[in-house]
Amino acid sequence: MIKKLLLINPVQEAKFSLATNMVIRVPPISLGYLAALTPPGWNIKITDENIEPVTFEDADLVGITAMTSNAPRAYEISYRYRQKGIKTVIGGVHASMLPDEAIRFVDSVVLGEAESIWQNLLHDFERNELKEFYRGERISLENLIRVRRDLYDSKRYKVKAAVETARGCPMDCEFCSVTTLYGRVYRHRPLKEVLDELEAVDSRNVLFMDDNILGYGEKAEQRAIQLFRGMIERGINKRWACQVGIDFVNNSEVLKCAKKAGCLAVFIGLESLNEEVLKDMHKVRNLRVGVRNYREVIKKIHEHGIGISGAFVFGNDRDEKDVFQKTTEFIMDSKIDGAQLSILTPLPGTRLYARLKEEGRLLYTNYPNDWKHYGFTQAVFKPKHMTPGELEDGVTEIYKHTTSRVTSLKRALNSILFARSIYGGVVAYAYNRGYVSFWMKNYDNIRSGFPSRSKEPYLPYAIIDGEIYKTKDLDGSENSSTPSVRI
Ligand code: SF4
Repeated sequence: MIKKLLLINPVQEAKFSLATNMVIRVPPISLGYLAALTPPGWNIKITDENIEPVTFEDADLVGITAMTSNAPRAYEISYRYRQKGIKTVIGGVHASMLPDEAIRFVDSVVLGEAESIWQNLLHDFERNELKEFYRGERISLENLIRVRRDLYDSKRYKVKAAVETARGCPMDCEFCSVTTLYGRVYRHRPLKEVLDELEAVDSRNVLFMDDNILGYGEKAEQRAIQLFRGMIERGINKRWACQVGIDFVNNSEVLKCAKKAGCLAVFIGLESLNEEVLKDMHKVRNLRVGVRNYREVIKKIHEHGIGISGAFVFGNDRDEKDVFQKTTEFIMDSKIDGAQLSILTPLPGTRLYARLKEEGRLLYTNYPNDWKHYGFTQAVFKPKHMTPGELEDGVTEIYKHTTSRVTSLKRALNSILFARSIYGGVVAYAYNRGYVSFWMKNYDNIRSGFPSRSKEPYLPYAIIDGEIYKTKDLDGSENSSTPSVRI
């Protein structure tokens, strides 16, 4: 008998991340890999709750992936399914960091990369021998299975294809969980396989998911050049964006080949305009380039006809209240095309989390419910030189100043002028407007006590102190977030 597998990416309570900006939102790649690894005999459906509701339809098995801020929602979905007697499995970075928390809400937890154990897990499920924990190994990226893109509702995504060329990072930034999850190693796929996959992708727009497509060291840099040249030689006509380190500009051959191969824009973690902050973060590569050269980096990328979005993080221990004004001025003067501004967030498993916990500075510790606050839009710890509210207000002010309709339009015209791309200008406008709209929605949520759950009438459960409660409205319906009956 054919069995049904539902793979779910739960909604982000704080809809703010690289992947939740509509302009660059991509289908959940990890679920596409698991679907591809699922043997015949399974009917598979992927639901990305960021674009469509979970309908709680029947299934034999439900697989859920979650980061930290959507973990409470993942647990709720799991709860609903387990109420129906349907088994659930969770994977992803949050469950890998906190498996003991996750197992309280699901039947099975996958730690690490699920690809290596997925078929064993399904086999165990079929024999009614599902284990509580599976530890996924760090897999070789050779012969990586092709993502099941046919299962995505691709009409709903602006960027329909996410492609990986490598995984991991040998750096060690204090706030980042990439190295905790993957170790400090950088693995890459054979170029031929990446190029074959790109040829098979029937979408013009592509987002490379690597944390740094350029890699680390001279060899990796040569590999990136070969990748771009391979795209040019094979006539792979894509418009693409990627994340790179700031040393993207060190070799003009890299820039030339990237542009020729269709690079529209790059995302770079500039993080801070204060070198002391970069030192605290262990942001070694940015320090090597130097903050004084950030404007030159942007100029050089523009000279090659490529746009740039910089990521900045606020709330660092050396950030004084003037950081907001200084960053606003930098964004406007430097002509940077886009800026992703976020609040420093101690994710579980990072050194930052351990330090702030040790210092007694965490503000939201009613886990797992409070993980919903850990979405980069809210101060979840006590900053050193301002109040949490001042931190949130400060970042909001930068967004307001730099991404109003008129300012975004002016900046988009600059993008057209400096990066010499009309399409790039249009994307920059939508990108900046997309971020400010998400930010303001979350800001309002935070100011009004984060009631986002109550807006979703299909959620009759709340998690408090790690327990799941059934909720009831005063009129007896089960649509409110007011907890009343402990289950
Ligand atoms: S922030 Fe970027 S450079 Fe730093 S450890 Fe994470 S992936 Fe590596």
